[in-house]
Amino acid sequence: MSLSKKTILPGQTIGIIGGGQLGRMMALPAREMGYRIAVLDPVEDSPCGQVADYKIIGDYHDLEAIKRLAEVSEIITYEFENIDATALEWLCENAYVPQGKSLLEISQDRVKEKTAIQDAGVQVAPFAVINSREDLELGLERLGFPAVLKTARGGYDGKGQAVIKTTQDIEEAVKLLEHGQCVLEKWVAFKKEISVIVVRNTTGETAVFPVGENIHVNNILHQTIVPARISLRAEEQAILAAVQLADEFELVGTLAVEMFLTEDDQIFINELAPRPHNSGHYSIEACETSQFEQHIRAVCGLPLSSTELLKPAVMVNILGDHVQNVLENLTTHKNWKIHFYGKNEAKLKRKMGHVTILCDSVDTALAEVNDSFIWEDKSLEAKR
Ligand code: AMP
Repeated sequence: MSLSKKTILPGQTIGIIGGGQLGRMMALPAREMGYRIAVLDPVEDSPCGQVADYKIIGDYHDLEAIKRLAEVSEIITYEFENIDATALEWLCENAYVPQGKSLLEISQDRVKEKTAIQDAGVQVAPFAVINSREDLELGLERLGFPAVLKTARGGYDGKGQAVIKTTQDIEEAVKLLEHGQCVLEKWVAFKKEISVIVVRNTTGETAVFPVGENIHVNNILHQTIVPARISLRAEEQAILAAVQLADEFELVGTLAVEMFLTEDDQIFINELAPRPHNSGHYSIEACETSQFEQHIRAVCGLPLSSTELLKPAVMVNILGDHVQNVLENLTTHKNWKIHFYGKNEAKLKRKMGHVTILCDSVDTALAEVNDSFIWEDKSLEAKR
């Protein structure tokens, strides 16, 4: 059923698996367009649940809950990639899931992901598949130090990873194998991390968002700067790579492509996310169409709108430990576009919201970030 393409119109119901901030930011423009939203999440008061028409409370792998979501929805989409295989199988057979399952399966597993990217003709960091300590030692011999070992499945925001700088780090790293297969990657001496979000609709029309320059702190995205401060050649290459992946994978929906850019402007793909992405939040105000509206348009079979950048922007994530600082600054900054996700508990590293600062230039926006935010952790200050 999922293969036949339909147009889903305002008034119909979009079912979202996952009630976090990405689901919420998908639901908001969808509701403005007149769609109804159903959401599946384990908790009642989820960020998306707060703005949804129907809430299904249940675990993501609970097939009964998945069936209830499908019952009230004309189309199913998702806000995260780790969807249970059985649930996905059932949905693809019995509901309308225009995004399909192949890209989800690819992005759930780093080995499949890297192989698929290479097969699509795009470059990833040299890697080795690791199933044992012996594989790891052989892999290190081939790739050299430093390298990074990552669990093939289940990691995010740097979790499930170990950097190996010398042989002394092997002992600690090898523990990751307890979680199953791993990937050893050569360390890329990148000058910048960038990302491109590409959206493709059910008729194959493609739209690309401007390249974002991402600054991570403690492996969590801290800032996205747009336009990225990179050469025109690098920008073109980054966009080309993202579009090539979208075409090769016959993408329907949104694909975020995270990349490393080296001193000599080579691009290596780091990771894929088959959904709207934190590094595209700037698009809500800075682009003619946001990544979230575009995602809804794509899966519902509507034509894609313009992704033109209207103004330079810096997006800053608000983690649990920044909330107070941001709230204290709100009244004095009229150009701060504030988003809080409705999460009750401000845990230390939890993403609670974001601020997008629009200015006439990236430098002005960055200067404002540095002057206004008081980061207790000095490493959080914007790198200029
Ligand atoms: P990931 O979860 O794979 O996105 O990794 C988290 C962060 O670790 C990335 O954003 C990079 O800053 C860093 N990292 C991961 N893999 C590599 C690599 N092969 N070379 C250099 N840095 C890396």
